[in-house]
Amino acid sequence: MRMAETGGAESPMMSLSWVTLAIVVVIGIFSIFSLWLGFQAYGSDHPEQANYYIIIGTTGFAIVGYMFFRTKSITTKKPLVPKADVITILECASCDLKRVRDFQRGDYVYKEDEPCTRCEGNMIITGIHRRAEPQKESPRQS
Ligand SMILES: [Zn+2]
Repeated sequence: MRMAETGGAESPMMSLSWVTLAIVVVIGIFSIFSLWLGFQAYGSDHPEQANYYIIIGTTGFAIVGYMFFRTKSITTKKPLVPKADVITILECASCDLKRVRDFQRGDYVYKEDEPCTRCEGNMIITGIHRRAEPQKESPRQS
């Protein structure tokens, strides 16, 4: 009895998760079958064969566990890409009016942007930041 070693499953990406799943299922059934054969052999007069089957079975389960853990960790990692949420801070040079708006393509610090809503001057971009996300740490009581 031999483990089917058809290559191709060794790709580092493991993008085809259903292939992995199929391999896991096949190895899992094979492992259960080996363990079953092992326990059957224990009752018979071939205890060495029983050990052999049980080693194959447990190795198969170890492979299944490893592959399952690996694919699971990959699939849970994927959607955790944070969306960049950037804001632009504008200040008027003449009257110190401050405004915050969403970042727009082409914004850069010290760029003269839209006209001031309070005076005749132009507003200048003084900062481009990532929007502060609501975090649990350092709860402020104002
Ligand atoms: Zn102004």
